Amino acid sequence: MSLLVVGSIGLDDIETPFDSVKNALGGSTTYISLAASYFTAPVSIVGVVGDDFEQRHVRMLENHNIDLEGLQIVEGAKTFRYGCKYHYDLNVRDSLFTHLNVFEHFNPVIPEQKRKSSFVILGNISPALQLKVLDQLTNPKFVVCDTMNFWIEGAKDDLLKVLKRVDVLIINDSEARLLTQQPNLIKAAKIISEMGPKYLIIKKGEHGALLFGDDSIFSAPAYPMEDINDPTGAGDAFAGGFTGYLHKNRDLSFDNLKRAVIYGSVMASFCVEKFSTKGLEDLSYLEIQNRFFEFKELSSF
Ligand code: AMP
Repeated sequence: MSLLVVGSIGLDDIETPFDSVKNALGGSTTYISLAASYFTAPVSIVGVVGDDFEQRHVRMLENHNIDLEGLQIVEGAKTFRYGCKYHYDLNVRDSLFTHLNVFEHFNPVIPEQKRKSSFVILGNISPALQLKVLDQLTNPKFVVCDTMNFWIEGAKDDLLKVLKRVDVLIINDSEARLLTQQPNLIKAAKIISEMGPKYLIIKKGEHGALLFGDDSIFSAPAYPMEDINDPTGAGDAFAGGFTGYLHKNRDLSFDNLKRAVIYGSVMASFCVEKFSTKGLEDLSYLEIQNRFFEFKELSSF
């Protein structure tokens, strides 16, 4: 069965202290599915765009063997748009606008065959839509969920319902603090575990990631990067690499989840090297493996 990915597909305006782009391809599903496509197939997406979504983006996704049967294109409607600006400290980003557009009336319909998917990623999208997706799944075994401050602040009740039904939550440190109102990440992790997810991953931007679960904690190193050009999508690339790797080998032991966290970090590191999705478009499996071993080297003592 395919790895099913549901989330946003959008066009982003991104500004960093060094450069900016407008109308660049973005969206959680886009980054997740590209990152996962290097590990496993088929990766099937469910999402929606307007008729302003360019064909070249569709072709690029198809070239990565991403199955677009679940992509709805709504005539006369506009694609989701997001704008953000990064500070000198690239871990800090201000969202400038979020235009839900075509998402306002989106009803995610999972194609009949894909309802049986056991590995599912609920990318960043409204928790109400994430619930609609969960309701259609007939055999969910490993559901990975991402969210962001926009939904923690604006749709917390629905988000708490989602968390009761997922296996892994992936969020960043500031979102974990916002969700729990607890500044200490270890205490925040305990509170989130009680909300439902069996495993929790807290990403700490350029400082690595923490995996919690099975009464254990794993601390993944950060890759020392000199050229970070655009952090957008790093979290989604992480989720795609993490879940894509697990979907490939179906080993859900804690030791393998640790390896998956490193593959997630590898994909996030490639993602931030270039603007928009460019860092994920032309990779080879060899490059991915080499960086995985660099991560290993970095943390062995
Ligand atoms: P990340 O940097 O991993 O948080 O992901 C950024 C991507 O998420 C961007 O490409 C945006 O298009 C998308 N995004 C931003 N805000 C939202 C939102 N409220 N709902 C869904 N997707 C969003």
